[in-house]
Amino acid sequence: MARINLEHIRHAYGEKPKSEADYALKEVHHEWNDSGAYALLGPSGCGKTTLLNIISGLLQPSEGRILFDGRDVTNLSTQQRNIAQVFQFPVIYDTMTVYDNLAFPLRNRGVPETEVDRRVREIIDMIGLGSWAKKKARGLTADQKQKISLGRGLVRSDVNAILFDEPLTVIDPHMKWVLRSQLKKLHRQFGFTMVYVTHDQTEALTFADKVVVMYDGQIVQIGTPAELFERPSHTFVGYFIGSPGMNVLPATVDGSNVTIGTDTIALDFRPKLDANATTELGIRPEFVRLGREGMHVRVNKVEDIGRQKIVRAEFAGNPIAIVIPEDGEIPADPRVTFDPSAINIYANSWRVGRE
Ligand code: ATP
Repeated sequence: MARINLEHIRHAYGEKPKSEADYALKEVHHEWNDSGAYALLGPSGCGKTTLLNIISGLLQPSEGRILFDGRDVTNLSTQQRNIAQVFQFPVIYDTMTVYDNLAFPLRNRGVPETEVDRRVREIIDMIGLGSWAKKKARGLTADQKQKISLGRGLVRSDVNAILFDEPLTVIDPHMKWVLRSQLKKLHRQFGFTMVYVTHDQTEALTFADKVVVMYDGQIVQIGTPAELFERPSHTFVGYFIGSPGMNVLPATVDGSNVTIGTDTIALDFRPKLDANATTELGIRPEFVRLGREGMHVRVNKVEDIGRQKIVRAEFAGNPIAIVIPEDGEIPADPRVTFDPSAINIYANSWRVGRE
């Protein structure tokens, strides 16, 4: 398995890009550890598939280099890079049996038949198609065919990395959950370097040890689920992760005091800011306390979501979401306070360090 270095990758699909807006990838420069499980998460069109295809070798970047364990593979094909890739829709041989479909990538590499048999049986059980081994793939459902695709991606244990592009889209919700935990188990067992594209935050957060959040052709944060939740490095990450997303409120910062409208809050740190930066305060709805003391707020709507309630309110002219317990009350004159340790300050959309 390989350590992957992405060095100053930029990509434009057109021949002659005229401006930054023409780049599907603007600047991607990161090192991904050997044996890491990375989920690429972001909204439609942010560049996830483009980046995955550049890593696999299906696409040549307009600029930049890709290294596997320090070796430049930018000009090598997928096969030469020794990558397994699983796509959103099944890529299998309809006329072969389920067993032969899974055995194919191994036989192709001259793996001894006893080893082929051992690996195929292991994978076939994992994807839940054991009883279908001798059936032709042609007769299977789309869901079963996709499981074969997944199995084909996992069957080889000698690849540099396994790349998944929303592989569970066509799988039913329960089986999705089963396959996801199987994948996680397999990753722990074999430690393959894994990159997994999804736009489903639950899928990314439950699956990866590092979540790579992409936005507008850039990686805006790589972090553990807890880091993304507690310290979103960009306001977009705050909105995108969590439901409802982080509240982002226009604010002015003076030393360690931050003012929103007519209310001033004392921070427990002193943000280091450049002059003229546009500053905002980020606070997750879970860390806004609703009560009888603090800053005035106007409650507009309460949504009961079972275990909790989401209060939609207006604070200093801004919409704000507040999460309260199911039995939480709305006081007659509602006020809010913010948990100081949960406040993040942003300058031109990027988080300002706490040092
Ligand atoms: P999705 O979740 O919808 O698959 P994505 O995050 O994977 O989106 P990409 O498919 O990488 O995003 O697309 C990034 C940008 O590049 C988009 O603006 C898209 O329209 C553009 N793009 C993607 N493929 C091509 C192509 N073959 N030719 C031209 N533009 C493309």
